[in-house]
Amino acid sequence: MNTVLVVFVILLVLKLGTGIVLDLLNVRYAQARAGEVPESFRDFIDLPTYQKSIEYTAAKTRFGIVSDLYDAAVLALVLLLGILPWFYELFSAWFGYGIWGQALVLFLVGLVLGIPSMPFDYWSTFHLEERFGFNKSTKKLWIIDKIKGTILGFAIGYPLLALLIYLVSSAGALWWVWGFAVFFLFQLVMVVAYPMFIMPLFNKLEPMEEGDLKTRLFALADRTGFKAQTILVLDGSKRSGHSNAFFSGFGRFRRIVLYDTLIEQMEPDELEAVLAHEIGHYKLGHIPKMMAMAALTSFGMFAVLGWLANADWFVQAFHFSAAQEGQIGIVPVLLLFMLLSGLVTFWLSPLSSRLSRKHEYEADAFARDAMGSYAPLSQALRKLHKENLSNLTPHPIYSSFHYSHPTLVERESSLRVQS
Ligand SMILES: [Zn+2]
Repeated sequence: MNTVLVVFVILLVLKLGTGIVLDLLNVRYAQARAGEVPESFRDFIDLPTYQKSIEYTAAKTRFGIVSDLYDAAVLALVLLLGILPWFYELFSAWFGYGIWGQALVLFLVGLVLGIPSMPFDYWSTFHLEERFGFNKSTKKLWIIDKIKGTILGFAIGYPLLALLIYLVSSAGALWWVWGFAVFFLFQLVMVVAYPMFIMPLFNKLEPMEEGDLKTRLFALADRTGFKAQTILVLDGSKRSGHSNAFFSGFGRFRRIVLYDTLIEQMEPDELEAVLAHEIGHYKLGHIPKMMAMAALTSFGMFAVLGWLANADWFVQAFHFSAAQEGQIGIVPVLLLFMLLSGLVTFWLSPLSSRLSRKHEYEADAFARDAMGSYAPLSQALRKLHKENLSNLTPHPIYSSFHYSHPTLVERESSLRVQS
C-alpha cells in the first residue's frame, strides 16, 4: 500500500473517530440530565417534552453514527478497490475525452456516488422524522424532489463543469485562479438566485397575507430601515413540521423568508423579534462577511487543485492511469478532490461555526435593541427550541465544534447583558 493511501486511511479514521466520540459525548451529556428539567428551562418546557427532545437527539445521533460509518465504508471501498477509476473509464469510453464529454462524465460519476446514501435520506425522512411527528412529506413528493434536484443539478452543474474543464485546458498554469474567479462569481449569483429562482421550484413563496400581523411586521421593517416587500412566507409545512426563518441575498435582491410553520407557532411580538433578528443579519453585513470567508476558503481549495492537477502521483495512487497525450486529465483530480476534501475541511468547521455564532449574537443584540426589550426574542427562541425538539443541553465541546447557532442558554444570557 502506498503512502498516499495510508494518509487517506489515517485521515478517514481520524475524522470518523472524532465525529463519533463527539456524538457520544453529546448524547451522554444530554441523557445524564434527562431525570428532571434543568432549572433554566422549567418556565417553558414540561418533563415529557424535555425527555422527548433528548430521545430525538439520541435517535438522530444513532442514525448519524450508522450513516457516517456507512459513508466511510463506501468511500474507502470506492477509493481503495479502484471502483472510482473503473466508473471514470467506463463513462469516458462512452462520452469521450473532450470538454463536454468529460463534464458529463464528472456529473455522472457524481450522480452514481450519490446513490448509496439515498436509502439513508429516505430513512431519515420517513422513519426518524416521522417517528417524532415532523415529517409532512409523502413518498411521491420525496421522489419528485430527487428528480427535480437532479435535473436542476445537471442544468447548473453541467455547463459550469464544462467551463472549469475548458479553463484547465486553455488558461495556462494559473487556470486555478480563473477557476476560482468563476466559482466565486457563481456563488455570488447563487446567493441571489437561490431564494428567487430555485426555492420556488420546490416551494410556494408568497407575500404575507393582509392583516394585523403584516401591518406589525412591516412597521418594524420600516422602523429598522428595511424594504418590507422582500418579506416572504414559505410553505415549509409541505415537507416538515420544523420551523425556521432566514435571510439571503444582498442589495436590491435581498429576501427574508419566514416559514409558515413559524408563523403558526408564534405570537405576533415573537415573530417581530425573529424578523428583527433577520433584519439584523442584513444591517450588520453578515452575508458579505460570510461571502468573504467563503471566497478565502475556495481560493485555498483552488490553489490545492492547481497543485494537484500536475501531480501524477496523486491520481495514480488511487489507481487512475496518467492522462494520455491529448486527453484532459483534470476530471480524476476533481473527482478525488470532491471525495477527499471533506476529510480536511471537517477540521475547519469549528472556525466557520464560530464566525456564524458571532453573527447570531450580533443579530440577537440588534433584535433586542429594535424591540426595546430582550423578552420577545427570548420567548421566540424558547418556542423554536421547544417546537423543534432541539437539544437544550448539548455538550460544550460538541456545540463549539458543530453549532452554527449558540445554545439557548448562551443566547439568553447574552441577550440579558446590557449593551
Ligand atoms: Zn440568525
